[in-house]
Amino acid sequence: MKTDFLIVGQGLAGTLTGHALERMGASVVIMGLEKPHAASSLAAGIIHPVSGRKFVKAWLYDQLIAQCHETYEEIERNLGVPLFRKLDMHLYISSVKEENDLLSQARRYSYDDLLRPLAVKDRDMQNSRRGYAINAFQLDIQGLLGYSANRWKAKQRYLPEHMEYPALSREGDSWRYKDVVAGQVIFCEGVWCRGNPWFSHLPVIPNKGQVLTLDPAGFQNIDYLVKSGLLLTRWKEVIWAGATYEWDFDYPGPDSYGWNYLYRRLENLLSQPYRVRSHMAGLRPTVPDRKPILAEHAELPGLWAVNGFGTKGSSLGPYVTRHLADLLNGREKINRFSPSRFKE
Ligand SMILES: Cc1cc2nc3c(=O)[nH]c(=O)nc-3n(C[C@H](O)[C@H](O)[C@H](O)COP(=O)(O)OP(=O)(O)OC[C@H]3O[C@@H](n4cnc5c(N)ncnc54)[C@H](O)[C@@H]3O)c2cc1C
Repeated sequence: MKTDFLIVGQGLAGTLTGHALERMGASVVIMGLEKPHAASSLAAGIIHPVSGRKFVKAWLYDQLIAQCHETYEEIERNLGVPLFRKLDMHLYISSVKEENDLLSQARRYSYDDLLRPLAVKDRDMQNSRRGYAINAFQLDIQGLLGYSANRWKAKQRYLPEHMEYPALSREGDSWRYKDVVAGQVIFCEGVWCRGNPWFSHLPVIPNKGQVLTLDPAGFQNIDYLVKSGLLLTRWKEVIWAGATYEWDFDYPGPDSYGWNYLYRRLENLLSQPYRVRSHMAGLRPTVPDRKPILAEHAELPGLWAVNGFGTKGSSLGPYVTRHLADLLNGREKINRFSPSRFKE
């Protein structure tokens, strides 16, 4: 089978790369078989403007969110399913100092017009809770991956396997992998890029995130997102509560550290008894400067890597993969996410 692009890995990066390339009229074959602890399998797909405890506005937020609307709404139309929604994020305030910090940062970064004092206390949260609501968004990542895979399978453009690297070879100006002959190959392998013979030099560092899901019975009606020590929101049929942010770990799966961390925060937050449904862990592909990477191999033209989505794949993905498509079709000349920045 001939194709313009072979995409290796069908997490969020591979899926959005596939849609961006098809959008420019190219043909794609996607190779996807989920490895345990892939980040996209358990991410809640939350996008919001307030970064960290200092209430700084997230990097490039306005551009990223504009591209999210365009990309996700177009994919929703193409796939015929809702995937992207707006929701309120409730930011709880625990002291006058914290409130002053939030309000002054909101003015400084011009998001004060997005903040509204919470008029009514959230019934599922402890009594003392007060704070502000701000616009946020949620992408159904697992829905996006599932419906996209089904469409590529129906078009026979999907290989349910892990790439065996020795089977990829140069054939004239193209690349052959078994019976697929591709003009270019794009690796979207998340943390597994570290084992890729052509891209293991990229500074991709695994960061472990653990999540608890809770039985929705007993909750009133959480149709908002809570940010208070952790993020809590509705996700599929359950309540999603997470996540840890771990650099040092020996084991990629769920463990007692994650359980205790999340449990303590839930005990401080929730007013009702609750029942844990599951405990999961995933590996975020992060980069030292927390910016994404678009890398073309220095000596082997036609081999690319898309990586470094870190904690923010849902907001970065549309912007970065559109930039990749523009580079590949010649509309953009300068790669703004080149890993050459690490040599400077
Ligand atoms: C607990 C947690 C919560 C998160 N919450 C959010 C959130 O709310 N909002 C947000 O924006 N982001 C969130 N993230 C981050 C987000 O999940 C990531 O930014 C994003 O999913 C990374 O996507 P990826 O495709 O690069 O990597 P991955 O999701 O890891 O996907 C890589 C894929 O490549 C496949 N693969 C690897 N090697 C090969 C090979 N050789 N052959 C074939 N396939 C291969 C793997 O099986 C996998 O399916 C969260 C992450 C975690 C861990």
